[in-house]
Amino acid sequence: MEDKFARDRQRMVASDLRAKGITDPGVLKVMGRIRREDFVKEPYQLQAYADGPLPIGMGQTISQPYIVALMTQELRLNRHCEVLEIGTGSGYQTAVLSGLAKKVYTIERFAPLSESAQAVLGGLGIDNVEFYIGDGSCGWPDERTFDRIIITAAVPKIPEPLTEQLVEGGLMVAPVGCGGVQELVVCEKRNGKIIERVICDVRFVKLFGEYGFDET
Ligand code: SAM
Repeated sequence: MEDKFARDRQRMVASDLRAKGITDPGVLKVMGRIRREDFVKEPYQLQAYADGPLPIGMGQTISQPYIVALMTQELRLNRHCEVLEIGTGSGYQTAVLSGLAKKVYTIERFAPLSESAQAVLGGLGIDNVEFYIGDGSCGWPDERTFDRIIITAAVPKIPEPLTEQLVEGGLMVAPVGCGGVQELVVCEKRNGKIIERVICDVRFVKLFGEYGFDET
């Protein structure tokens, strides 16, 4: 089974990432190494390398590998970057970011998902991630700025507290839109202003919270 997963992972990198336009060598290397099967429960492990989202509990999903790769590539990470991730979910995207950045700060609203992600990353020996359980639409709870921000759930518009926590010259990537299909947007902070660039259409679960969607 171990061999099958390893073969499937290499096929995923070749056919679902590189062949579809992912060129960043760091992203391809890290995603060729991280075992996606570790981030889903048993009934879904055999589908871990199909290029689609999978259920992770609490009505949430682990994102499609191609979209994880695309969002990570758009962040243009280096080993000096401190990254804020909103929506820890299974922790798979967190693990990918941690392999390319100096430190990752990740927020999840559902405690069971955050706790499960903490256990998986801990088991993998990943020690450059800080977890927080709460409403990520309000940003990291203490006054801090980040070189990169990634929102892994759909927002009606970019949450103001997150633009405030992005450094000058920093990049943020997020699915933005109110319908079932959103636009994947890359934001760059220049002279205190946010410049947005649309990459493609995407489908994400909603980000609920004070600066996200209303749950009522
Ligand atoms: N990137 C994750 C992965 O690799 O498994 C998948 C993220 S999933 C598509 C979106 C996540 O955002 C869900 O786990 C959901 O609970 C979380 N979420 C939704 N609203 C949130 C909020 N206000 N603050 C933090 N997390 C939130």
